[in-house]
Amino acid sequence: MENACESCLMPFAKDPGTRESDKYCSYCFRNGELCYKGNDLKEFQKIAYQNMRAHGTNPLLATFFAYMIRYAKRWKK
Ligand SMILES: [Zn+2]
Repeated sequence: MENACESCLMPFAKDPGTRESDKYCSYCFRNGELCYKGNDLKEFQKIAYQNMRAHGTNPLLATFFAYMIRYAKRWKK
């Protein structure tokens, strides 16, 4: 997957922030490091869902995007 965050799959074209990394969006990677350093996909999905809801994404879409995170490079086994 190119041109999308390897951690949360958000397309870089939709990133409202300034990206510091070639691989990660401005939400996932900030100040030189990953914002969520853990290795728990479920926990990350929960955080991502809450972030999307906080940014006004409707609940159905947020659920869908959070589900899709399992296919991001960072979480692939
Ligand atoms: Zn991201």
